[in-house]
Amino acid sequence: MSILSVSEANFSFELDVVIIGAGACGLCAGLAAHEAGAEVLILERDASALGTTAMSTGLIPGAGTSAQRAASITDSAVQFAQDICAKTNNRTDEKMALALAQESANTIEWLSNTYGVPLTLVDTFLYPGHSIMRMHGTPNRSGAELMGSLSNAIEREGVSILTNATVTNLFADDSGRVHGVRFQRPDQSIEDVGCRAIILACCGFAGNPKMLSQYIPEIEGGEFFGHPGNKGDAVLWGDSLGAAVADMSAYQGHAGLAKGFGIPILWPCIVEGGIQVNQQGKRFSNEARGYSEQAVDVLSQEGSVAWTFYDEQRHNLMLEFDDYNEAINAGAVRHGDSLQDICIQTKLPLDKLTQTLSDITGLVDSDADDEFGRSFKGKQPLCAPFYAVKVTGAIFHTQGGLRVDEHARVLREDGSALPNLYAGGGAARGISGPDASGYLAGNGLLTATTFGRLAGRAAVADIAK
Ligand SMILES: Cc1cc2nc3c(=O)[nH]c(=O)nc-3n(C[C@H](O)[C@H](O)[C@H](O)COP(=O)(O)OP(=O)(O)OC[C@H]3O[C@@H](n4cnc5c(N)ncnc54)[C@H](O)[C@@H]3O)c2cc1C
Repeated sequence: MSILSVSEANFSFELDVVIIGAGACGLCAGLAAHEAGAEVLILERDASALGTTAMSTGLIPGAGTSAQRAASITDSAVQFAQDICAKTNNRTDEKMALALAQESANTIEWLSNTYGVPLTLVDTFLYPGHSIMRMHGTPNRSGAELMGSLSNAIEREGVSILTNATVTNLFADDSGRVHGVRFQRPDQSIEDVGCRAIILACCGFAGNPKMLSQYIPEIEGGEFFGHPGNKGDAVLWGDSLGAAVADMSAYQGHAGLAKGFGIPILWPCIVEGGIQVNQQGKRFSNEARGYSEQAVDVLSQEGSVAWTFYDEQRHNLMLEFDDYNEAINAGAVRHGDSLQDICIQTKLPLDKLTQTLSDITGLVDSDADDEFGRSFKGKQPLCAPFYAVKVTGAIFHTQGGLRVDEHARVLREDGSALPNLYAGGGAARGISGPDASGYLAGNGLLTATTFGRLAGRAAVADIAK
């Protein structure tokens, strides 16, 4: 994954913009650059355009969208940026958070109105850290559906995409200007393509165990539930070209990966009053503060597992999600008509679980937080029938990466922009601060879609200068 001298290149053809990676970021960048009049090629290592995006729930936040207005929800970019910054304990770039929040509604409208992505407002629950309902998703709340819709748009618009094409090298001169790329086909043949601008949309380094252990050792024991093709190429190339990196220890963790099934059990059941208990039937943290930071707490329990525990009311809420229905069909979700029954199903100790439930029931009418700082005020107490899923902690994708400006131009340490290099999504530094706790739900696809759109536009505008 090295940088080669331009003199070594043998370009078979040349175009305006080459995009590396065909997840949400790459496809949005491709659409935006094509729309701005450029000749574009997207290169993707896999046989089809899927990436982490297709594994995701596909929820994209937008503040001030028409869907929010139709639901009489008042939101603003400032409020959204405040939520982003608060989740990181003010350890992210405030200006960048605001810039992305300001563009978030434009991205939702652009995807929906220009490219027919069927996004609706998720109005059934609030993810931890969001003060207002602003998540937008496809009908089945699925990243695969989102990718299908984006791929259809790419095809309709005639944007060129080449799959089974792993980019192995960039060709650059001493100024850091990239003149083209080399990619390899599954039969090991190689081809060089020239370009005037390059967009790195090849996500982060969660699929590179060496980089993970270098930058995020705390999650090494966790399962990796992300895209294995994301090997940190953007960071490696950027670094060789003199780009700055930041927040390399940041990541999206998840404390609800169904153990042995590899299906994420999402957080609505927790935020609406469900809990996580260890194998002794005891809670061990404030699970409602966020699924990302809870991952290491689950991993520190006996067997590196916990039980996500809830009842019929929360179960019904979860049925909105494709992932959850898949978990039910796969047999990951245990059901018990009574507490005794669910304890037989899960081998959780009845006396301890009874005590745990009694402790939280005592808090629903109280202003007091529990010993972990969680409030249960106003939540309906958990009652039979009960549901439980054995889960473990996982890493989904990394959130640190190449430092970029608000147009997704990759920056050097001194703040100057590299001549023609852009990055977005998991390839760029996110807005999640320096660790897992700063990940606000939606940060992944906000930066993938919005930076993708902005990178495509900026690349074409800069070429024209
Ligand atoms: C289970 C799960 C649920 C999630 N839910 C949400 C959610 O609801 N909302 C949200 O905001 N975020 C969510 N995320 C995070 C979100 O999916 C990611 O932040 C986002 O998809 C990243 O998009 P991307 O385009 O940067 O990367 P990707 O979608 O991973 O695309 C990168 C592409 O680059 C390709 N590639 C890599 N290297 C090369 C190379 N050298 N040459 C050619 N191609 C290359 C890869 O094969 C891949 O297809 C979730 C993640 C997971 C795992």
